[in-house]
Amino acid sequence: MPYKLVKENHFILYKGIIIEPQIRDFFIGRIWTRVNTPFPQEKIEKYKEQNYFNKKPGISINRSIGIFNRKRYKCNRCHNEQQNEFVQYDCARCNKTCVYCRHCINMGRITSCTDLLLWNGPKPKVKKTHELVWSGAFTDLQSTAAQQLIESLKENRNHLLHAVCGAGKTEILFPAVLYALKKGWRVCIATPRTDVVLELFPRFKKVFPKTILHSLYGNAPSHPGYPQLVIATTHQLFRFENAFDFVIVDEADAFPYTYDRALQKAVLKSKKVGAPIALVTATPSAKILAQMKREKWGYSFISRRYHGHPLPVPRLEPLWSYNKIIQKGRIPKKLLDWTTTRLENKEPFLIFFPTINLMENAIPLFQQLDKKILGVHAEDPERKGKVLKLRNEEIPGLLTTTILERGITIKNVQVAVVGAESKIFNSSALIQISGRVGRNVLFPSGEIVLFHHGITVEMDEARNEIIRFNKEGFRMEAK
Ligand SMILES: [Zn+2]
Repeated sequence: MPYKLVKENHFILYKGIIIEPQIRDFFIGRIWTRVNTPFPQEKIEKYKEQNYFNKKPGISINRSIGIFNRKRYKCNRCHNEQQNEFVQYDCARCNKTCVYCRHCINMGRITSCTDLLLWNGPKPKVKKTHELVWSGAFTDLQSTAAQQLIESLKENRNHLLHAVCGAGKTEILFPAVLYALKKGWRVCIATPRTDVVLELFPRFKKVFPKTILHSLYGNAPSHPGYPQLVIATTHQLFRFENAFDFVIVDEADAFPYTYDRALQKAVLKSKKVGAPIALVTATPSAKILAQMKREKWGYSFISRRYHGHPLPVPRLEPLWSYNKIIQKGRIPKKLLDWTTTRLENKEPFLIFFPTINLMENAIPLFQQLDKKILGVHAEDPERKGKVLKLRNEEIPGLLTTTILERGITIKNVQVAVVGAESKIFNSSALIQISGRVGRNVLFPSGEIVLFHHGITVEMDEARNEIIRFNKEGFRMEAK
């Protein structure tokens, strides 16, 4: 019969419940709304009675001192404190005026009368037997960076891994992730983009066959077990608290992470106090670079692609009034020629468009060239399948919005941007898009054309930055 130690040499009959591993494994490190768990409500209530959960109000209300005696709200899930994002409403459940948080509304409504649950029960034993099964070889630069990242972990400091597109960033993370897992740490790789989660998950699963890892994104299928490695969108980190011993933010410069302070707070909240963060990016912002220097982070810079070839430099081509021409039902001449050449050479291609609207107008025109050409955008439920089709050479090319600017690796892909002068294509987006080209050692170069209606500063900046990287890589090689 189970007993519980109350005081030394003094036992009482333990009336607790036998903890179901799936409940424990799910809740550890999470902060979750009480009424909306994947388990029966009665069960959760029982665990609560036995103090297996701590609880927090969904929204904390503080009264600021002063004559106005104003209320200040804070969302305990997303840590949003922007007062204009809190909305008062007449709550049918409480018969009172309650408040909800608009900031994290797309993950389900958090109100002042919602309870958030945090696991307070026993933790599972973490495995320390992990294995890295990877037969690739590092270049000197990669190997140095991988080592520097481990050094930062040993010293418990943050790290910036600044690496050009195609430097093999993911592989560079493997040794550090293995180091952390073997210490029994819980590791999270977070990225602003669902596509990047989808790309990274199978790669990590393959090389860490003995590790339980889960991928988390909107509407992701649920997996069993306690994951010691989590690959998630940064949004999903709203649902974690004090969970991770090491967080890697991949593509740390990508929208919306850079613009959304609450997402950055979500990363901080999801990790344990004092746990190190590593930022991985090809295009760090001036702000990140300044913070890195100020706070004395570890730093690795890889200016060369893993195969040693330079980055393809974008070619700028005017494509005057492309918008009108496409709307009139024609593909502008230069773009038509470019696409026909790709089709003739049987080279897979991506054509980026600034808006879904323009892309949708263009799809039927391109399908007249080859009816297998498809289009993809953020809300497309088949986007995963379409990218796979391009990779498997089942379709010749894909029209896309900026959602495919990162994380996509397709052998011998040729890339064009239509409307490169549009605001959405800032220099970091253009560098990322250019970085899709020439990633494979067998096809280290390729076409990257920026079709435009007038050259912008951002286009110039992207081009100069890529040229600078190439010079830098050459300089480092010559040393
Ligand atoms: Zn919120």
